[in-house]
Formats: sequence, structure tokens, C-alpha cells
Amino acid sequence: MAQQEVRVRFAPSPTGKLHIGGARTAIYNWAFARANGGKFVLRIEDTDPERSTDENVQIILRALRWMGLDWDEGPEVGGSFGPYTQMQRMDTYAAALEALKAADAVYPCFCTREELDAKRAAADKTGVAYSGYDRTCRSLDLAEAEARIEAGEPHVWRLKVPDGHAPIEFDDAVYGHMSFPADVMDDMILVRSDGSPTYNFAAVCDDSSMRITHVIRGDDHLSNTPRQILIYEALGLPVPTFAHLSMILGADGRKLSKRHGATSVEEYREAGILPDCLVNFLALLGWSLDGETTIIPRDVLCREFSLERITKKDAIFDETKLDWMNGQYIQRMGAPAWVQAAMPWLVQAGADESDIRENPGWYEKIYPLIAERLPRLSQIPEKLGYLFWGPEVRLDEKSVKKVLQKEGARAEEALRAVRGVLADPEMPWECDALQDACRALCEPMGLKPKSLFQPVRVAVCGNMVSPPLFESIELLPRKDVLARIDAALEAAF
Ligand code: GLU
Repeated sequence: MAQQEVRVRFAPSPTGKLHIGGARTAIYNWAFARANGGKFVLRIEDTDPERSTDENVQIILRALRWMGLDWDEGPEVGGSFGPYTQMQRMDTYAAALEALKAADAVYPCFCTREELDAKRAAADKTGVAYSGYDRTCRSLDLAEAEARIEAGEPHVWRLKVPDGHAPIEFDDAVYGHMSFPADVMDDMILVRSDGSPTYNFAAVCDDSSMRITHVIRGDDHLSNTPRQILIYEALGLPVPTFAHLSMILGADGRKLSKRHGATSVEEYREAGILPDCLVNFLALLGWSLDGETTIIPRDVLCREFSLERITKKDAIFDETKLDWMNGQYIQRMGAPAWVQAAMPWLVQAGADESDIRENPGWYEKIYPLIAERLPRLSQIPEKLGYLFWGPEVRLDEKSVKKVLQKEGARAEEALRAVRGVLADPEMPWECDALQDACRALCEPMGLKPKSLFQPVRVAVCGNMVSPPLFESIELLPRKDVLARIDAALEAAF
């Protein structure tokens, strides 16, 4: 028999931005589809009208696109099992409900919210844990129930969990064999009184009609799985394979949340993390190639990803490691790609976007100065602004005090001497030549290189911790460098 095509889905609820945990789920589904020559489906689960917005859908799609997670079927792409937005699939849930009615697997429940709350409160008082809906309406006479529906009485539809059902078992691809007693399963609501499906019902209907073979999702849904299996059984449908992903924790071992800082893909994009890096980094939160490789390019991930190598241990989100990894990606990407990726931040630093596009060569020369120094692109405006100041210098006060005005440092003398070298029209405007010529001043002046160069760094770059000095000088026009030194001499002495 031909092997069944792998079909997986990512099914976000558009109630907010794409969270890091959701992004990892999306990556695993995508990589699993790619590794198996299967299909990656995107489905929007928008049945919570109060919290779902179109804007959030757009934010999620944008985040997925930015990470390069292309979906084979879904919004904006289409596919043979659409629509891929739950609110547009109401007729399919209605049809599934009809099938369940015909199979006598559901019943209407007329209990009001107040009645249910009162039962819960009463249970709480007796100290007996509330064991779910007490099935009052399950025994209603069919004719009576029909008459009440006919009369327009509000009602939900509940699943009739079969009496004496054996434990619900499944083999989770990550957690292994799982078993849940069926007798504690509530007769769960499938369709609410407004006719909308609950998450469990809609998810099963959709996963089934979209021919999903593997459900890979966060382990916060682990307790939903036995319920969903009961629904599959009631509908007489095959149950897919499940793989539940452990939680992502912050460095302090607590569930990742706003408290830890950025938690959405968008925030990391704005922080200047590269999409390739974020995909690599998130892929390793719970999966490994061989237990040690950390830099895993996209194509390797798409070839090698397997459910077997997912761990059920909670994953730790370590920002320091993320920065390190982004630095690795920056060092490997090369100058032209860096200029493209860095464009928005170069513009913030003061560069002109059309100039970057027309003369990328000059910008590419910045790359070797920073490739090992700026692990986040968002550091560019602060750290590279000096390249775009023209003849002006914005002196950092602390650096002025510590370097230019330091007692006995002879900073003014150093600046004037270096200015003399830089002003020589015979001097080639080239990093090594300039540096050698300036260095030659040290001995006759009796100054250490640092004492000679730090004042120049402050005068040209504004502070004492800039990227390499002479490489920076080479990038700037001679007249601007001289003007900055003059301005610093004026301002500091
Ligand atoms: N919409 C659900 C969520 O965002 C999807 C759960 C699932 O993958 O079944 O958590």
C-alpha cells in the first residue's frame, strides 16, 4: 500500500501576536512536513469572536512569512480542503453535529449557566471535587427535548460519553503511551447555544476533513486529546498521531511570559534577530539534531527533522544564547546580505535608504567592523550612528571627562598631532597607512598607542567604545574627520 502523505497543521487562535511557543509549534510542523515530503497546512481558529481579530491574523501571517515558514494550504494560499478559517466552516460543523445526532452520540442540554454554577458551588461546599456536568439532560425524553428545542429554548449540544468506555489510550510521539480513564470524562459541550462549535469539536472536524495525519502542538492541549479521541470515535473517524511539545521556560525555570521580556516573534524581529537564527534557535528548544550541533541551517532542519528527537523535558529560553547565535549568523551571512537585513536600522542610524540601495558597496565595508561585535541589528543606530554624522560630532560626556579631560593624559596634544597626520594631503586615506603613520608618533611623543588613539576615537566616534578606529576613519571623508577633531578640540579644552 502506498504510504499515506504526511499532512500537518499549525492552528493559531488570532487572539494576540505570534508567541514564541506558537512559533516553535509552527516550525516543528513545517519542518516535519518538509522532512517527509508532506503538506503544511495553516488554519485560523477564530471561533472566539471576542478575542479574535483580523489584525491579529495579519500579524500572525506576517510573522510566519518573516520566519520563512511557507504553508502549502491555508489563508492567502488556498487548497483543496478550505476554507482555512474556522468561522467560514460553520456548515461543516453543523453537518458533523447532524451526523452525531443521527448516531445518537449527542444530546441537547438546557441547563442554564446559573444552574450549572449553582451545582458547582454546591459541590465545592461539600468538599467533593466537582466532577463535571452531572448529565441531567442526558436522560431527557426525546420528544420532550425536541419540543423544547422547537419552542426556541436555548440549549447546547453535549457529547454522550459512552458508559463503561475503556480507558482512552494513545501513543504520543513525544510522551509515549498515554492512558486516561474515560469515566471521569465530562459530557463535554460540542456546540454552544449560539450554534458555534467549541474548540475540541471544531479541531476534530477540521483535522479530520483536512486529512491531518499528525497533530503536533503544545502540551497545554494534552488533556484535550482524550476528549478529542472520544469525538473522533463518535464520528467514526480515524484518529491521527499526536505529538505534544513540552513547555518553554524562562531562564529562571518559570513558564515563559512577559515577565521575561520579549515573548512574540514580532518583538524579536524588531530587536534585530535574523529570521534564520530565530528558526534555528526555536527548533532547538526541545529538539536536537545530534545532541550537540547548534547551528542548523534551514535546509538541514527540513531534511533531518524527526519527531523521535523531540524531548519531553521542558526547554529553557536563554536570551544570551540567542544573541550568541544571532552573532554566528551575522558572521556567516556576508556583507551584501547584512546590508539588506540591516537596512531599517541603518536608516534609523541616519543613512539614506536610496543611497544604501544605490551604493551598497560603501555599506558593505561597515560589515567587517561589526560582524563580531553587534549580535543584534537593533544595536546599529546606537553603535554606528557616528558614521552618519557628517562633519559633526556628538560627544559622550562621560568619555569627554574620562579621556579628553583626564588629568595628565595629554589628550589635546595627542589630538593635534594626529590631526596633523590626517590633514596631510599626501597621506593615502587608507586604514593601515593612517594607523602606521599615527603610531609612529608614539615614540617621539612618549605616549602609549592607547593614550594617542583614545582621544581620537572620542573625537571622531563620540565615545570611547566604538568599533575599530582607523577602519571607521577610512569610511569617513577626510574633511569630516578633521572637522570632528576640530569640534572636539573646541568643546573639550
Ligand atoms: N487554536 C489552538 C491554540 O492556539 C490550537 C490547538 C491545536 O493545535 O489543536 O492553542
